[in-house]
Amino acid sequence: MFSKDLFQESKKFIPGGVSSPVRAFEPYPFFVKKASGSKIYDVDGNKYIDHCLAYGPLILGHADPKVVREVSNQLTIGSAYGAPTENEIILAKEVVDRIPSAEMVRFVNSGGEATMSAIRLARGFTGKDKIIKFDGAYHGAHDYTLVKGKPGEACVPDTKGIPLDTAKNTYSVPFNDEEALSDLIQKDGDNIACLIMEVVMGNIGCIEPKKGFLEFVRKITEENNILLIFDEVITGFRLARGGAQEYYGVTPDLTTMGKIVGGGLPMGAFAGKKEIMELIAPNGPVYQAGTFSGNPISVQAGISTLKQLDDKFYKDLERKGNFLRSNIQSVIDEQGYNITPVGCGSMFQIYFNPAPVYNNEDAHNSDAKRFLRYFRALLKEGVFIPPSQFECNFISSAHTMEDLTQTAEAIEMALEVAF
Ligand code: PLP
Repeated sequence: MFSKDLFQESKKFIPGGVSSPVRAFEPYPFFVKKASGSKIYDVDGNKYIDHCLAYGPLILGHADPKVVREVSNQLTIGSAYGAPTENEIILAKEVVDRIPSAEMVRFVNSGGEATMSAIRLARGFTGKDKIIKFDGAYHGAHDYTLVKGKPGEACVPDTKGIPLDTAKNTYSVPFNDEEALSDLIQKDGDNIACLIMEVVMGNIGCIEPKKGFLEFVRKITEENNILLIFDEVITGFRLARGGAQEYYGVTPDLTTMGKIVGGGLPMGAFAGKKEIMELIAPNGPVYQAGTFSGNPISVQAGISTLKQLDDKFYKDLERKGNFLRSNIQSVIDEQGYNITPVGCGSMFQIYFNPAPVYNNEDAHNSDAKRFLRYFRALLKEGVFIPPSQFECNFISSAHTMEDLTQTAEAIEMALEVAF
């Protein structure tokens, strides 16, 4: 069957025809046949250079031979034990060695589970209930953070099904806005357990913190007994060996991870200072558990991936990112398009918006229709990016300079169509 027919069939059995909302796009998403390295192939016979990369986990590209070999070996000796393994210690040591804030780590099954657990831990540690997030940040599909609000006011649910009572424990303030954050903390800091943030806002495109903003956030949270949680589900092991906290030189109290830590398999983790992490069950009073937590397949994929990520790896990846971004910039300059290319490390995006983009409101000033024309044109040119202006595009080590040159040429064509 072709993608068009599969989508019709899928919609009969799976709500919206997809297992996660962003995957559905008009008129129908392509259905995947296989993927390898930097390429993904659909059932209709098309091949794409993949810059969606499953929304971030695949820093080595698809089906990396070493990961496949070692995970396959593990599969033959069991996929879940419900008992600890030595490999969990090996992976925990890898995380602790790399991530500056990590002294101890607990493995979970997804990024969302990691953020949910870290927030509970922060509440348990501080004895306070309220939390702060930034407008537009995504921390998983759970009730604590799927909320929205005006600065200084209690949040309301951002989806049906979340009780108002839950949402009102969260505050949301604009990213990169020191004044809004400072006003809120002055008003209600005594009741705030933690501030959770994406260091680079990867769920409204790709927005970096302004110079000095992270240092300000670190200082004001520390002064007010508010735990700082860096949600590094995207940036962890992507921007640097030690994630965004190494890249920008600011260390939080807790860090949440996902995507890359599981080497392409489902996995998440949260880590932090020993005195905080030791509050978790079984020895501490903060309950947290999971049947598949630390399962040997994902743990092996995590080890097989992280072991390949040394400083040279990140230098090469950054070089590739710079190459692509400078090519995109040249196209925009030559054609005089009034749009804003952004990105850092191996992350990139284009906002169909002329102004500098510092926060959620700026990001949403983008021309969504133009973006969709650009997305569709890119697909025609053989390049797959997420079908949303508010996601980030990625580069893996499997992308060759030839791939990236091709991507830049495709972007040039797609921008012509979009305009
Ligand atoms: N945090 C961030 C920054 C994310 O980007 C995501 C997912 O995209 C999550 C948390 C949730 O991770 P998961 O989809 O593995 O639950």
